[in-house]
Amino acid sequence: MRKPFIAGNWKMYKITPEAQAYAKEFKNLVQNVTDRDILICAPFTLLGTLAKEWNNSNILLGAQNMYFEKEGAFTGEISPLQLKDIGAQYVILGHSERRHILKETDALINKKVHAALQNDLLPILCVGELLEEREANKTETVVKTHVVEGFKGLSQSDALKVTIAYEPVWAIGTGKTATPEDADAVHVFIRKVLAEIYDSSTAEAIRIQYGGSVKTDNVDSLMAKPNIDGALVGGASLKADSFARIVGFVKI
Ligand code: PEP
Repeated sequence: MRKPFIAGNWKMYKITPEAQAYAKEFKNLVQNVTDRDILICAPFTLLGTLAKEWNNSNILLGAQNMYFEKEGAFTGEISPLQLKDIGAQYVILGHSERRHILKETDALINKKVHAALQNDLLPILCVGELLEEREANKTETVVKTHVVEGFKGLSQSDALKVTIAYEPVWAIGTGKTATPEDADAVHVFIRKVLAEIYDSSTAEAIRIQYGGSVKTDNVDSLMAKPNIDGALVGGASLKADSFARIVGFVKI
């Protein structure tokens, strides 16, 4: 059985006092949740503060990006070693904002996936198509490329440490959500691709989150789908009470 995995992506929001207030409120709201994994991926500047606030709690901590080298002359970058050092356990890689605004390629993202795993950080690999690609019936081709290239060179045991987030780009921050049926169908397709690369038991074990305008009022129907194992939540993770409601999705 895949344990539900609900992750928040704060993007480039919040400063220290806001993060501290959120941390206390959210910790209280989710303290009794044991049957779901809960993660917040925060800006680098807040990771140290949150690591202290959530030490020994049920809230996991992640970053939203990293470079693939352990150290070196890479001005402005952050390394997996530094993320581990500050208390991160996870890292989002290949988010559509990095693919499309910062022009990250599949090859670069794959290097980052390897580097994360080599340094004991668990990657959330984001995959997903643009609106024009969906309209041109290219969803499966695009998603397959993101998965195949993202997992390139990973052993089966490393593959099992990766979470995939299927995030159709047209649904991110737009208020448009893929229907639970459409999202589930893409998740089934992703599992087929994973089974082709590895085998069906590996494909069955890897968790696939859905992301794209997940909110308090649609999380229950999304999470009711058999292949949707969790959510990667942007906007609605910024408020502790709404994110706690998403974490506490009702099984229907
Ligand atoms: C995201 O940032 O990954 C995301 C899915 O954002 P939103 O929930 O705001 O659409």
